[in-house]
Amino acid sequence: MPMIHHHISALRAAIQPYRAAQRIALVPTMGNLHDGHLELVNIAKQHADIVVVSIFVNPTQFGVGEDFDSYPRTLDEDVAKLATVGADYVFAPNIDEMYPVLPPPTTVRAGAITEQLCGKTRPTHFDGVGIVVSKLFNIVQPNVAIFGQKDYQQLAIIKQLVRDLSYSIEIIGAPIVRAADGLALSSRNQYLSESERQTAPILQQELQYLAKRIGGNHQPLDVLLAASRQRITSAGFVIDYLDIKTAQLDSLKTDGSSVNFNENQQDLVILVAAWLGRARLLDNQLVTANTV
Ligand code: AMP
Repeated sequence: MPMIHHHISALRAAIQPYRAAQRIALVPTMGNLHDGHLELVNIAKQHADIVVVSIFVNPTQFGVGEDFDSYPRTLDEDVAKLATVGADYVFAPNIDEMYPVLPPPTTVRAGAITEQLCGKTRPTHFDGVGIVVSKLFNIVQPNVAIFGQKDYQQLAIIKQLVRDLSYSIEIIGAPIVRAADGLALSSRNQYLSESERQTAPILQQELQYLAKRIGGNHQPLDVLLAASRQRITSAGFVIDYLDIKTAQLDSLKTDGSSVNFNENQQDLVILVAAWLGRARLLDNQLVTANTV
């Protein structure tokens, strides 16, 4: 079983002896672990000798009226799952330990990259991610940290954070783990009713559909996107966004209505966030220049 620590000082003392000769990996999570999280641990073990998994439902990344209070907290089950994949330490601090003053007067803002996509409807979310990830990096001081590509914008922001704040930490993006029907695994999938759960894979199907077409000069991009949005909405989702960006999350240059993908020869990513009932579902699909 992994050792659980609730206090920063205890975790630091526990992992200090490894620093000289061994590599330490950090896998930050909010708990309620599923196979997607466990895959991050598997990847961490390939890159480090000691794996620390943090489990902290971070209040600063939830907006007013969001699901902070109802977010599922399942520490005992999480620790049992982590034992099956060989995590070494669980860091599960309480809120006071992480935030002696809440909200913290010190902020970590990542700028323009946070003002698009999820940041439009969750304007304070990435500030919360920025400060909690900075704190976890400082507490654990890992050699490597693993984040899921499912939260594509978050991963891009963390890479920027590491660059701009000179963290000496390798950031690894882990592929999206999906259910057999294609739905990206998420702790929030349990908010779905049975019939919503049947509908949910439509999001990923639309991403795949778009990925096949955007390189083929089939139709102008905004026509393709509009048709996809229509189908997603008709299926019962309320779309937050469905967009196509460069892999670095820059906007595409459009000439009126179309994008000449082949001419640009760049990797693209299609990103979607949509509500289905109580669940806000997030997914994305990378489209690499040489696969289209
Ligand atoms: P969360 O507990 O939702 O904050 O997620 C913790 C980490 O797990 C983040 O880096 C997520 O991107 C990653 N993650 C969540 N779901 C998946 C998934 N289905 N596949 C891969 N990584 C995931």
